[in-house]
Amino acid sequence: MTKTIIYPGTFDPITNGHIDIIERSLLLFDEVIVAVATKSTKNPKFTCDTRISLIKEVFAHNKHVHVKQFSGLLTTFAQQLNVYVLLRGLRAVSDFEYEFQLANMNRKLCPKIETIFLPATNNYTYISASMVKEIADLGGDISDLVPKTVEIALRKTNC
Ligand code: ADP
Repeated sequence: MTKTIIYPGTFDPITNGHIDIIERSLLLFDEVIVAVATKSTKNPKFTCDTRISLIKEVFAHNKHVHVKQFSGLLTTFAQQLNVYVLLRGLRAVSDFEYEFQLANMNRKLCPKIETIFLPATNNYTYISASMVKEIADLGGDISDLVPKTVEIALRKTNC
């Protein structure tokens, strides 16, 4: 039986931290579905289509990574796919409170759903998409934080 996990998020844009979580999840699961939220309270810089294309470009070589968008409840989306395991990354204790609440709320909405957390790799604990965007806006070097294709997209939006 194929083991599949859903990795939901805004991915505005995808960073090396997200990529590390996806790659490590494939040591535990056969397939990962990166679920990009069309609507977000975070007021994304990139359109959903662009966020999806960037992820697809990064994982073009990996047929086990699938990218889909979702707009309603994550639990409804998961049920439609018949996948009941969610993946989230934890960078610091500060992530924990929100992630714990989210995992429990998702399980309340759909009791079959479980959330699995992977701790961020040391080198990536300080990377967040919002900080990457801020540094790019201010002309800083983001080459160690995101893949080349994302760096180019961020530079273009700042022209
Ligand atoms: P959301 O808006 O749902 O928080 P994000 O795209 O910001 O979406 O993050 C998606 C998931 O990836 C979250 O679980 C977040 O904690 C995790 N994540 C973000 N950056 C990193 C990182 N550098 N290392 C590990 N996990 C991360």
